[in-house]
Amino acid sequence: MDPIVIVGGGIVGTSVAYHLRSIDRPIHLFEKETLGSGTTAGSVAQFTYHQADPSKLDHELRRRSREWYDRHIESGEFSFEAIGTLHVAGTDAEREARRDLGASLAEHGAETEWLEPEDLPDYDVDGEELVGGLLLPTDGVLDPSEIVQYQAEAVREAGHTIETGVEVTDVRTDDGEVTGVVTDSGTVDADVVINAAGPWAPVLDDMVGVETPIRHTHGPILVLEADQPLDLPLTFFEDEVYLRQEGRTRALAGQFVTAYENADRLDPNAARSPPESFHLDIAEVVEKYVTVDDAVEVVNEWEALRTVTPDGQPIVDETAVDDYVVATGMSGFGITTAPAVGELTAELLTGEEKSPLLEHLSLDRFE
Ligand SMILES: Cc1cc2nc3c(=O)[nH]c(=O)nc-3n(C[C@H](O)[C@H](O)[C@H](O)COP(=O)(O)OP(=O)(O)OC[C@H]3O[C@@H](n4cnc5c(N)ncnc54)[C@H](O)[C@@H]3O)c2cc1C
Repeated sequence: MDPIVIVGGGIVGTSVAYHLRSIDRPIHLFEKETLGSGTTAGSVAQFTYHQADPSKLDHELRRRSREWYDRHIESGEFSFEAIGTLHVAGTDAEREARRDLGASLAEHGAETEWLEPEDLPDYDVDGEELVGGLLLPTDGVLDPSEIVQYQAEAVREAGHTIETGVEVTDVRTDDGEVTGVVTDSGTVDADVVINAAGPWAPVLDDMVGVETPIRHTHGPILVLEADQPLDLPLTFFEDEVYLRQEGRTRALAGQFVTAYENADRLDPNAARSPPESFHLDIAEVVEKYVTVDDAVEVVNEWEALRTVTPDGQPIVDETAVDDYVVATGMSGFGITTAPAVGELTAELLTGEEKSPLLEHLSLDRFE
């Protein structure tokens, strides 16, 4: 029996393999670098219930993921630090919008709290120029490399194959059906090929001649060192600039750009680093809002790509080419939603009928 081939060994590809591992067919996962070394390594790793305009099914995706994470956190397999997510408001209009969003998230079952400006210094945020903030106190930081390794080990223990340092260079089809993959170390026949290649997903789609509406946005990160302890949730300020504590005296600073209108198809192999203007934006936000008295220094930086879809939800579906499946377009929330995306991809391959959540993530929603 030919294997199910998974392309990509990030948090999504290993989750798909993990959730498929009991299937009565061999699984063969190819990762061109090392496991978890793509976007997964470049993320700030927060599980969050936050999303701009949550529907019941969008929330369901997070709830399913969180249940899976909670089981592994409770059993001591995964570490988790519940630092919370905070969205501050600088104007009355923002205050209303954040409060409405909080009410909507709470309606779906997320825990939320409203903080007044005088509460903000407890979270290392200076409330002087702010009118409050929406806190999601149960959000927190995971360790993606721990999760990827855990999933990969379970897949190998179940007798399947994970090859690292092997790139899939072509996907073979015959009469509109997948037949195998070509790699830089040989050819492998395949019953099914699953694209879990993160930002490289469109490169793979091109090999098969399938079009998906995936685009990219830039994800710049600066690592800041302060000379005093920080107690900062993942905190979003103006222009979607965010900061979160990292260990005792460090913070990660980024910008959450996911709007599809401003996204492009970018080269995932190009070397990138945060522009000088981003350094200046972060310096301004730290100076204005963070309650650190002393100097803060940039000690590291990187830039990764987000892989976004028009509605900000992933795509989990079969395509016009038979047995070519996509599990892509995580839209800036792949650490949060990978467990459910893995479960749903397994469901897609083994189930009889698509569940409402799978329908919600189908490709034809963009037609
Ligand atoms: C700056 C930044 C911060 C983020 N912060 C958060 C956060 O706080 N919370 C959250 O939920 N999400 C966050 N995200 C999003 C999250 O990191 C991604 O959605 C997630 O990591 C995507 O995982 P993936 O497995 O799909 O992709 P990747 O981790 O990119 O994995 C894809 C893998 O496929 C491999 N590959 C590609 N092509 C081939 C090929 N042809 N052959 C073999 N292997 C191939 C690559 O080498 C790569 O390892 C953030 C993203 C960015 C950019």
